[in-house]
Amino acid sequence: MTDTRPGQITKVVIVGGGTAGWMAAAALSRLVAGGVSVTLVESEEIGTVGVGEATIPSLLDYNRMLGIDEDAFVRATGATFKLGIEFRDWRRLGEAYLHPFGTHGRDIDGVSFHQLWLRQAASGTPDPGPIGDYCLSSVAARRGRFTRPSANPQSVLSTLSYAFHFDAALYARFLRDMAEQDGVVRVEGRVVAVDRDAETGFIEAVRLEGDRRIEGELFVDCSGFRSLLLGETLDVSFTSWKQWLPCDRAWAVPSARQGPLTPYTRATADTAGWRWRIPLQHRVGNGYVYSSAHIDDDDAKQALLAGLDGAAQGEPRQLRFEAGRRERLWDRNCVAIGLSGGFLEPLESTSIHLIQSGITRLMSLFPDRGFGSAERDEYNRVMLREYEQVRDFIILHYHATERSDSPFWDHCRTMTVPESLLAKLGLWSGRARVFREQGELFTPDSWVAVLLGQGVRPDSFDPLTAGLPPSETARFMAHIRDMIDKTAAAMPMHEDFIAQHCAA
Ligand code: FAD
Repeated sequence: MTDTRPGQITKVVIVGGGTAGWMAAAALSRLVAGGVSVTLVESEEIGTVGVGEATIPSLLDYNRMLGIDEDAFVRATGATFKLGIEFRDWRRLGEAYLHPFGTHGRDIDGVSFHQLWLRQAASGTPDPGPIGDYCLSSVAARRGRFTRPSANPQSVLSTLSYAFHFDAALYARFLRDMAEQDGVVRVEGRVVAVDRDAETGFIEAVRLEGDRRIEGELFVDCSGFRSLLLGETLDVSFTSWKQWLPCDRAWAVPSARQGPLTPYTRATADTAGWRWRIPLQHRVGNGYVYSSAHIDDDDAKQALLAGLDGAAQGEPRQLRFEAGRRERLWDRNCVAIGLSGGFLEPLESTSIHLIQSGITRLMSLFPDRGFGSAERDEYNRVMLREYEQVRDFIILHYHATERSDSPFWDHCRTMTVPESLLAKLGLWSGRARVFREQGELFTPDSWVAVLLGQGVRPDSFDPLTAGLPPSETARFMAHIRDMIDKTAAAMPMHEDFIAQHCAA
């Protein structure tokens, strides 16, 4: 075994083998070479939450960090490529828009592209068309096309950005194989008790059925909604965000593949929540996320089944949850990653990103056995803020609606939103300003796509646009639109790309 430094942590225990547990294990397995033992405990009898199929582009960084071959990963997980999310019926019934990955147009002389677009839209001559026409990911998604981006920054193809839809259980299996090969030890069994130091309250060991005891120095709680270590054992309280995000249940069911393989997730607003549609290579994942205060379970199930575009594969499964997060995500010698730390509904496919973010931040702030407060406080500060930033972006979709066709939408439209979101909306409503806080996940392009898609129009636009002659700007915009149109037209169809490179 390799020598370890004095004070270095030598035993890491991960409790839980869902997406969070195996993502953490695969990343922390690199510690094994440095003499650290990494043990993962999971219980097949308890099982995993078993949903979570849509991702955002940051997952590419995580996969790259682990040296994962992308074609092998796509094949192993039945994945498809995702260029964005289509939102149907969110602003009004019958209307749709796309929140694409990637950028809109190009900024000129420090003026954001959306400011130029707003000025052009205000003048109306010529009509600039939808802002999505200036984003390659958006245009390609609408046409069902996909290719990988170009590394050449001069090429329009370099502006394309993508993520995946995949089978989460197969992804966990893929990561498990990698982690075990790298020396992570998997222990099957149910944790029935937790031993703590009487003085400090630090966790010393977890006890499993059959009188087994696993000692550790650092514990990573990936036990799912139960939050076995952070919540139940260390008693870190849960802050609910139900007042802004009232959806608390979901029905989920896969269906047979039907029609072309769309390279985007679809989120359709319904009477008391929204339905997801996530196309994989071998099936389509579907679900209805709803507020139990506004619709009963049976009606929600029927609405889900009625909206499927292929035959249901089995009976729908119900999941229960509450939006919110733990007051701290790192307490004493325990870090909660995944559902044990908090939950935000999958409207913008952010849960797996938050898992990844928790893992990479833990790795960069990895503690010593002394567990000084500096690392823990910094971790909590940035992670808690990240949860809030994502929360605000999700609330925006519900609040910025014109729908008044059900009590649920009346509630969302008229509710008071968090101060931090009000501040963002205030900046936008004047001169269409969008600022990205440090460490914020969603870019100004994402905010612009959703704000405009939901019909939130600013009063005006940036006065700096006055320095750019309108006729020149119009020519520049027409050129970009034309290039994007031609580039998208030359891309392969999504399913042809998969068949050629990475079919399961
Ligand atoms: P789980 O999958 O619940 O795993 C918990 C693990 O802990 C299991 O292995 C279990 O056996 C183990 N365990 C628990 N108790 C014990 C015990 N006592 N002893 C031993 N082991 C124990 N995320 C996205 O990014 N995109 C999506 O599209 C998406 N869609 C979602 C839709 C819904 C309706 C829901 C509810 C969530 C969705 N998510 C999505 C979130 C995503 O599913 C989770 O973030 C992800 O699966 C991680 O879950 P987890 O590993 O934290 O918990």
